[in-house]
Amino acid sequence: MIDTDIAVIGAGPTGLFTVFEAGLLGMRCHLIDSLSKPGGQCSEIYPNKPIYDIPAYPEIKAGELVDKLLEQIKPFSPGYSLGETAEGLSKEDDKFIITTDKKTKISAKVIAIAGGLGNFEPRKPKLENLEKYEDNGVQYGVLDPEKFRNKSVIISGGGDSALDWTIVLSEIAKKVTLIHRRNQFRGAVDSVNKIQKLKDKGILEILTPAVISKLHGDKKLENVEIKVEDKSLNLATDYLIPLYGLVPKMDVFKSWGLEIDKNAIKVNNSLDYQTNKNGIYAIGDINSYPGKLKLILSGFHEAAIMCHSAFQIVNPGKKNVLKYTTVSGISGFDGSKKEPKKTEINSFK
Ligand SMILES: Cc1cc2nc3c(=O)[nH]c(=O)nc-3n(C[C@H](O)[C@H](O)[C@H](O)COP(=O)(O)OP(=O)(O)OC[C@H]3O[C@@H](n4cnc5c(N)ncnc54)[C@H](O)[C@@H]3O)c2cc1C
Repeated sequence: MIDTDIAVIGAGPTGLFTVFEAGLLGMRCHLIDSLSKPGGQCSEIYPNKPIYDIPAYPEIKAGELVDKLLEQIKPFSPGYSLGETAEGLSKEDDKFIITTDKKTKISAKVIAIAGGLGNFEPRKPKLENLEKYEDNGVQYGVLDPEKFRNKSVIISGGGDSALDWTIVLSEIAKKVTLIHRRNQFRGAVDSVNKIQKLKDKGILEILTPAVISKLHGDKKLENVEIKVEDKSLNLATDYLIPLYGLVPKMDVFKSWGLEIDKNAIKVNNSLDYQTNKNGIYAIGDINSYPGKLKLILSGFHEAAIMCHSAFQIVNPGKKNVLKYTTVSGISGFDGSKKEPKKTEINSFK
């Protein structure tokens, strides 16, 4: 049995930053994630895409942000159960016991669910023989854009992911064709303008309203049949990337008796992001409250608030005073120390 203060479900940006905030307050964390590496959506879906709205980073690639978070939490030596899904929940005295699908047991006074979209899986097109071509030409995300250098790629979808990857791959691939079932794209206006420019320059082909009707190929994908209005086209391609979003799976958390609101866990946001069960918090993309913004920075903020509330459960009766890291420094559980610096503070005269 692994014993810790806070069991964190999800090692996405929110879960990782929870380890840091908890560590500042002297609490240990154990991270559980179904994926084999930390980083959540940032690592799994868009590691090479630049993010522009992380405070103090005018631009940072999602994978780089994860690396920085891992570096930041290193002093607090979290435990990891990667490639394991949190499934069972029971209670012994004042501790929760989480059991994973690999039968690992984690005991903690507090649970922080930072599970993003839950166990998500890509929304797939309904096509005959689709499975035959999965990982043989059909893929649902882009991990390494270099894989597509000088290749022919068909991207299908009308949201941000489809538009963003079309823009990125247009610079790398031999040929990119973007298809969408509607004439209007749902993505950001700026991205729509960019793809229009790429089309005008002849770098990109756009087919709308169009749907994929059949896949062909002996051992791997070779041709895609596409219905454009009432015409049928046969396009030779190396890759088809359908980007129709992700299907969230909340089954586990529903079975724990947590209140679910439209595929997210309802929390008390006026206080501390606690769910309807005492000691179980939900932070980051997985929670729902009025005005919620599904952004990385929201997850960071919620992690800080949640940890200060959890301190009272982990250390009943102990007083917790908010300290600036500039004043307290950082004392890692690994023995490392970052001392506060006594330098002059500029003050207003
Ligand atoms: C293409 C794209 C571009 C984006 N761009 C931006 C941007 O520019 N700026 C921005 O702020 N946000 C952006 N986002 C959103 C951002 O990625 C999310 O807000 C962020 O990832 C949420 O972090 P999280 O840690 O809450 O959840 P996630 O990153 O989703 O991580 C949750 C983790 O929990 C795990 N998990 C779930 N259930 C279980 C379980 N039962 N057991 C074990 N593990 C479990 C999952 O495997 C996952 O790894 C973008 C998203 C996408 C898809």
